Amino acid sequence: MRLQAVNIAGAGLAGALLAVLLGRRGIAVNVFERRPDPRAHAADAGRSINLALAARGIRALEQAGLMEQVRPTLLPMRGRMIHDPEVSSTPRLLPYGQREAEVIYSVGRAALNRVLIEAAASLPQVRLHFDTSCTEVDVPSGSLRLVDNRTGVERTLSDSVTIAADGAGSAVRGSLARAGRVSVCELPLEHDYKEFHIPPRGGQYALYPEALHVWPRHGFMLIALPNPDRSFTATLFLPQTGDPGFDTLSGAAAVQEFFQRQFATAAALIPDLVAQFRSHPAGHLGTIHADPWACGAVLLLGDAAHAIVPFHGQGMNAAFEDCALLDALVAGAGPHGNWPEIFARFSRTRHGDTEAIAQMALENYAEMRSAVLDARFLRHQAWALQLERLYPTRFIPRYAMVMFHPEISYSEALRRGAVQQQILAQLDAQRAPGGSDHPAPLSAAELARAQQLIAAQL
Ligand SMILES: Cc1cc2nc3c(=O)[nH]c(=O)nc-3n(C[C@H](O)[C@H](O)[C@H](O)COP(=O)(O)OP(=O)(O)OC[C@H]3O[C@@H](n4cnc5c(N)ncnc54)[C@H](O)[C@@H]3O)c2cc1C
Repeated sequence: MRLQAVNIAGAGLAGALLAVLLGRRGIAVNVFERRPDPRAHAADAGRSINLALAARGIRALEQAGLMEQVRPTLLPMRGRMIHDPEVSSTPRLLPYGQREAEVIYSVGRAALNRVLIEAAASLPQVRLHFDTSCTEVDVPSGSLRLVDNRTGVERTLSDSVTIAADGAGSAVRGSLARAGRVSVCELPLEHDYKEFHIPPRGGQYALYPEALHVWPRHGFMLIALPNPDRSFTATLFLPQTGDPGFDTLSGAAAVQEFFQRQFATAAALIPDLVAQFRSHPAGHLGTIHADPWACGAVLLLGDAAHAIVPFHGQGMNAAFEDCALLDALVAGAGPHGNWPEIFARFSRTRHGDTEAIAQMALENYAEMRSAVLDARFLRHQAWALQLERLYPTRFIPRYAMVMFHPEISYSEALRRGAVQQQILAQLDAQRAPGGSDHPAPLSAAELARAQQLIAAQL
């Protein structure tokens, strides 16, 4: 492979994985990361501590030959454990899928990033430069501006091929936008998040470990994912303003009272709740639409191109899928390929899919914090699983398409999911009047109708 060396901005999840994939192809790679080397320093506090890894991310890690190293860090989560508002009710597990392998995995961000950085550092083609920020690109001259964060010394690389994997706040994207080369639409969510540590109890997990726990409360929610040290990381998603809202939870008494009223079972597991609430920062969330991603020899990728809200657990998975796609395009371009063409093809191929997951991620917030409490949603979910058992290649619940079927693109999952939703609504509408809230499985007659609808529409 004779492609010119590339410079990657950011050694986060996408940048480090991409460095491994390109390095393995024999391409020389320089990675510039503004933070210190994580192999020598503790992880930042306050960023999302653990993430859900699913099939799309796993497939990309396999493409890079890294699953062996990553697997020991993974904890399986078989479904959502719903903690209903009534404190006396027993938590109920809504399985994510119906096959043994249909689970998602909790993984620590720092541990995963470290595996990726170690793998990149072990390749002779890859050079990692920590404490170095990328500040600007200039497309006509092909220059990339860097600053050494320890000394403040600036330098400029000329004739640079640059892949910006510098995250949602991308400085590279910012400089392209200022130059009028990229239009950027940032849609902030009016809800922020804050993380809490749930320590082990008597050396054991304080909650059932093989689930993603959710305390849905319609307008807001608390979730918790397990960590390998038997703790959980809980995350509160709450409006910035209002009642309840982050702005009205100012004093210790208000925080205690809110958690006691809304999340009593979780509050009982966080001994220093108020201290954590005060010291942990609230993070902002939102969706970023950028267009185009490819400007000559510069490409935006991962969150820098398409940051999304975290409610489908797909931002990292989508960023990893970006890396795998770009790697495949590089391989397909062959020895005469050139970066601007590969970048343009990547942008054309991928844009529709990331728009689709951005929409589904927003929709999933409503599902997690509210719909899981609704009888109609639960009935449709049960019917969808019933239909999947009968037509496993035709009718696949949308959640499963996104999380367990990387061979189905995000845009196809969105399209098929909408058709399936209509079919379920039609079946519901035809139930006997007054019986529509009945949770019973689809009858033989309803299944015959479902078969006709599936044959006609899917
Ligand atoms: C609360 C929360 C929960 C989430 N949960 C999930 C989940 O369960 N599953 C999932 O798939 N995704 C999840 N995500 C999304 C996921 O974190 C991101 O999609 C993913 O980190 C994107 O990877 P990236 O490499 O593009 O960006 P990042 O991981 O943000 O990496 C960017 C890197 O660039 C570096 N950098 C920044 N600026 C510069 C610069 N100017 N110069 C050089 N380096 C720079 C940063 O230090 C960082 O290392 C979650 C996000 C949040 C906020």
